[in-house]
Amino acid sequence: MNVHNKPNEPVLDSYWMPFTANRQFKAAPRLLASAEGMYYTSADGRQVLDGTAGLWCVNAGHGRRQIASAVERQLTQLDFAPSFQMGHPIAFDFAERLAEIAPGPDGAKLDRVFYTGSGSESVDTALKMAIAYQRAIGQGTRTRLIGRERGYHGVGFGGISVGGILNNRRVFPQLAGSDHLRHTHDLAKNAFVKGQPEHGVELADDLERLVALHGAETIAACIVEPVAGSTGVLIPPKGYLEKLRAICDKHGILLIFDEVITGFGRLGAAFATDYFGVTPDLVTTAKGLTNGAIPMGAVFASRKVHDALMHGPENAIELFHGYTYSGHPAACAAGIVTLDIYRDEGLLTRAADLEDDWQTAMHSLKGLPHVIDIRTIGLIAGIELASRDGAPGTRAYDVFVDCFEKGLLIRVTGDIIAFSPPLIAEKKHFEDIVSILGDALKRAA
Ligand code: PMP
Repeated sequence: MNVHNKPNEPVLDSYWMPFTANRQFKAAPRLLASAEGMYYTSADGRQVLDGTAGLWCVNAGHGRRQIASAVERQLTQLDFAPSFQMGHPIAFDFAERLAEIAPGPDGAKLDRVFYTGSGSESVDTALKMAIAYQRAIGQGTRTRLIGRERGYHGVGFGGISVGGILNNRRVFPQLAGSDHLRHTHDLAKNAFVKGQPEHGVELADDLERLVALHGAETIAACIVEPVAGSTGVLIPPKGYLEKLRAICDKHGILLIFDEVITGFGRLGAAFATDYFGVTPDLVTTAKGLTNGAIPMGAVFASRKVHDALMHGPENAIELFHGYTYSGHPAACAAGIVTLDIYRDEGLLTRAADLEDDWQTAMHSLKGLPHVIDIRTIGLIAGIELASRDGAPGTRAYDVFVDCFEKGLLIRVTGDIIAFSPPLIAEKKHFEDIVSILGDALKRAA
């Protein structure tokens, strides 16, 4: 805030904003001042419908008083406690609650929980767990990590190594030995499909090709987002995830699902693991874990991975890894109440009930100017626009700015618009999204 402390007029110089064109933004800032339910209020007092649950995280909607009260109570009682060689009850309580809804079928749930502070930290944690697991079972040569083109796994060095976004990768060095499957996006064959596309299962065979190229004995794990979000909503072709699982099993490779956006109800089941019925060995989460209210992430590990690392001398640290904020008391308090809300309001399966209305609404935008694809699954949609010649990304960005001015928050990556509204959304919100976006697309023509 500036020296006059006028809430609408902060000084913008000092804050170096993440993933933002700072100079462009500061010339015409968009500021969100408060939030309630499905809406933000901008600093200039306008209601803005949240089409993206913040950044895919505010699944139960904004302004949940129960979360705020629980955090306040916890901070008053125990604000911080070290998690290394020390414990505090709420961290164990939250893990037990998470274990109850953990991804995977009954009897084989991934019910061992490791806390982190974010999605990026969850990814790096899972990658390290995979390498440590292989070593623990006598497979120490397995250090290679396989990701996928157009994957997004956060911004740690592990995450950018397995990720597949050019701008994340070209500036920074990556972990030696990381390699990539091709992505599954195929507009020619799969445009305007509702749910999982028919074509592309054979792309999972890329993992066989990488095994043939590098040798299975060098590969620790393969990580994919079950539905890639940040790179423009790429939905797995039918049979693709099943096939990846089978190839991993055949070659002793661990399978990691990055569920940072699909976790906690986004598809209509608690996890994409359950939605698709394909069980990986490790699942990374964050975002919806605490409804976005307090930063936190968690890795869900299978018993197989967990138990293999629990051997060795009694006094040895089993996994030499952790964060100051692992299991932060305030985050655990927020998380427990978030799980209560999800349970009491049926939010983890609500996307399944809304899916028909959502798909119908989103696909009604077909035929509008520049729309070359619409992809939907659960309560996610990707709307791909034809790029302007020589200026990729500018068309969707213009639509984004226009929508914000008209009271709708959308997310754009390149020329793809992504939606992931809070799971408390109703049909009327879908209608408003279609109406505001539809007008913006017509204006962009
Ligand atoms: N993995 C996936 C699949 C994500 O979508 C994101 C964030 N969008 C991340 C990891 C990174 O999470 P964070 O920004 O919390 O580090």
